[in-house]
Amino acid sequence: MIKRVEVNYRGIFQKSLGKKIGSDIAIIATHMGQVGFSNGRYSDSPERNGIPCKYFAYVSPDLSEEELEAECGANLDIDTCDFSIVLDDTMVKGVEPWGWHGIRPINEKVTENGYLLVVSRKSHDELLRFIGKKPYPYHLAILEGDASLAGLWVYKDDLTHERVLGALAGLDPSLISMEAIEAHLLEKTHEQHRVDAAREAYETIRQHTRVVTPEEGIDWPYAPPVLPKWFDFPEGIVVPAVERGFTMGPRGQSRNTTFKRGTTKTQRPVVRFDLCTKCTLCWLECPDECFDPTPDGLYDVNYEYCVGCGKCAEVCPVQECIVMVDELRFEDNSSPWEAYKRDPAAYLEWAEEKKGTERVNYPFVTGTGVAVTAGQRVPEGKVIPVKKEVYR
Ligand code: SF4
Ligand code: SF4
Repeated sequence: MIKRVEVNYRGIFQKSLGKKIGSDIAIIATHMGQVGFSNGRYSDSPERNGIPCKYFAYVSPDLSEEELEAECGANLDIDTCDFSIVLDDTMVKGVEPWGWHGIRPINEKVTENGYLLVVSRKSHDELLRFIGKKPYPYHLAILEGDASLAGLWVYKDDLTHERVLGALAGLDPSLISMEAIEAHLLEKTHEQHRVDAAREAYETIRQHTRVVTPEEGIDWPYAPPVLPKWFDFPEGIVVPAVERGFTMGPRGQSRNTTFKRGTTKTQRPVVRFDLCTKCTLCWLECPDECFDPTPDGLYDVNYEYCVGCGKCAEVCPVQECIVMVDELRFEDNSSPWEAYKRDPAAYLEWAEEKKGTERVNYPFVTGTGVAVTAGQRVPEGKVIPVKKEVYR
């Protein structure tokens, strides 16, 4: 028997966290007399910021090391898993890593009565507004917390690692037990607060776990990609280029339709078009060319391609004109500019409602935590320049 665990994480920001969880599951299971094995899938080069990636851990009570590695070692992905851990709840909207064309449901691999364990401050029902239906029941467990997003290859030591291990023990002590986690953490770190964090998650996770029935969730809106078989390849290699073209307006620029990248984001930019001075900076600076020039000189955002890097919000010279907002506050990827043109007053209200009263910044480079500041509702059309800080 093999128990399979996948750890869904965001590339680079959560790379070390995903790896620590995967390898510790294997080590702790080994201390319990089982056989454990862990590996990762290198999903992008060089793990593009925010890209959905996976680590895996496998535990078997009865196979030999060689047998387990032969079963699990060379796989690029797994067909099913008993536990799917999600380290950033915005991935419940679907994941599209490089090398895995198409947007797949986050619970795609979860087996019947298996577990989807999500680090989140949202409720079960809020998350299920985005998660695809499954034909059988499974469990949705919520480990209360924010996405632990660190810097480039930086590990953010905020105890998410220990809490996820404790939660797994709470869900299935035969995979890893709380006693084995405690012994492992104390031997490795001699720090009791790490054990306490794991134990708190262990003791409470069941209260935040419920069965999801086949009726719950959404009908998955994305068509599964059909990849060619080896015998479909013609002699010689022809790689079709992305068709080039440009028309003024939403979705006017040609883009790669195979790899849309939109599932890379934790936040998306909300634009107050009434404040825009048409300075062009967002359009020029966006690293993924997500802005489409419009006939009235504004810039529409194509959210299917936006990776949520925040560069546009950083360079926009007008206060509150572009604000990064939690991705789970949005239902679709429709054009904000078209909504603005249909009804400017309704769009302004919508934008302010989405922005809310807090502005959340993830300092990705240092990985030092989430900075929350107060937002401001700027009156319609009132352009206030951003005060740029001068570093000496
Ligand atoms: S957050 Fe802004 S700059 Fe970054 S990809 Fe999205 S639209 Fe482009
Ligand atoms: S950076 Fe801001 S002000 Fe400049 S064009 Fe973009 S939205 Fe408008």
